[in-house]
Amino acid sequence: MPSRIRVVLVVCLVAGLCGIARAWGPHTEITAAGLAVQPEKEKLQKYLGDDFSRLSRDYCWMGDWQEAVRPDHYADDYLLFPQSPLHVSHMHPQVRKTYAPFFKRALQAIRTESPRNAARWVGSLLHFVQDAGSPPHTTGIGGELHGKMERWVDESKIAIGGYKPRLLGKTDAEALRGFEERMAELHDFSRLRAEQLKLLVEKLEKRENQPLELECALEVARVTADVVHTLFALGLKEPPKPGAALEGKLNYEPPAGYATVPAKIIIEGTDFSTTTDGEGRYHFRDVPPGRYAVSVLATGYEVERVQDVIFEAGKTATVEPKLKPDAGNLVRNPRFAHKWILADQPDGWSRDTVKGGRWVSAPVRVPVGQACVVRVEFVGEKKVPVSVRWRSNPSSTVGGRETALDVAKFPVEVAPDVLMKPFEKGYLYLEVLLHTDGEPAKAVRHVAVAFAKK
Ligand SMILES: [Zn+2]
Ligand SMILES: [Zn+2]
Repeated sequence: MPSRIRVVLVVCLVAGLCGIARAWGPHTEITAAGLAVQPEKEKLQKYLGDDFSRLSRDYCWMGDWQEAVRPDHYADDYLLFPQSPLHVSHMHPQVRKTYAPFFKRALQAIRTESPRNAARWVGSLLHFVQDAGSPPHTTGIGGELHGKMERWVDESKIAIGGYKPRLLGKTDAEALRGFEERMAELHDFSRLRAEQLKLLVEKLEKRENQPLELECALEVARVTADVVHTLFALGLKEPPKPGAALEGKLNYEPPAGYATVPAKIIIEGTDFSTTTDGEGRYHFRDVPPGRYAVSVLATGYEVERVQDVIFEAGKTATVEPKLKPDAGNLVRNPRFAHKWILADQPDGWSRDTVKGGRWVSAPVRVPVGQACVVRVEFVGEKKVPVSVRWRSNPSSTVGGRETALDVAKFPVEVAPDVLMKPFEKGYLYLEVLLHTDGEPAKAVRHVAVAFAKK
């Protein structure tokens, strides 16, 4: 995505990262209001456990954590998948591209994954729904005015008591259509108010809570309630006939600092993926029968691929390969072998948006003050230039600081810039840049970043 889009996203991101619940939106308050009116609230609360409240506290912000490593998950594991392979702007009209893929993906998660994974995917969808109804997102207004138009709202008034959530459709196809129509209505509702609101807040210097913003927030909460109600009403219905199940427990120890970051399990050639729980267990249910390859991506270990796993209706297959350690390596997909999200781009790698002709790794989360050891192995004698970039913000390259590495001297130790001010308290992000235009695997065999021993 062009770096311009990343800049736009920073507006929402700052609020999310600093944990200020005062931004748009008030995602937290809007989600909580939508959950409070669910007709089967107790049942949902019981099903999701702690993740019921994490939906409003945390998961509805997922969209603004792109590329980030959260304490117990990679945000991109809930933001990128074959049907939606790239990050898109949360402004209209681009945000509409998220509607159908994320609605279907959230429904799939409810049907085939753990309640925790379901809550996270629903959280991603809710973020896009809520941004789509935020006044400045309907009119393409950025900068300071953007903040005034979505943050000057009295969050304590966001409640929709008495609202009866609408079922957006009785079948998947009907529900998707109903959802898209509801989103179109929401856009028109907020757009109308955005035009009036712009004239009101433009001249104001100091915060004054705007009733028009509150009207939008309440409508977004109603849509949130409709979406949650519809997804769980359809998703938790008994399937007409049982599908196949797959489970396993991975014996692996994530590197220090990544202790609770889960491994990812992918059913190749499909949209099915999931992540492990705190004990390394994972479980899929009701997936279509067939014969598939299953891949396991665990940070600090080589990517494993198990061929020809047979999925039979009503039966549970087990896949738990023995993982080979990769010396505490924190780079995802370090040999570029895994391409699930896009056919022409290794998962966890992308073309650099700052300067062309370079591949950039997924960012590694590094505690401030922690030095890292970088090691790049090349294919044959030919070496391509390599650099690292420190970022204070996982979702923006703005302000990133780059250092070229001496490719004759790997392993190279790099230390975080003491002058960088982290967005997320206590952490900076480190990326490896490979200066090559072609397929990275043609020039580089393996990329490793590990925490240096103190
Ligand atoms: Zn915004
Ligand atoms: Zn956003």
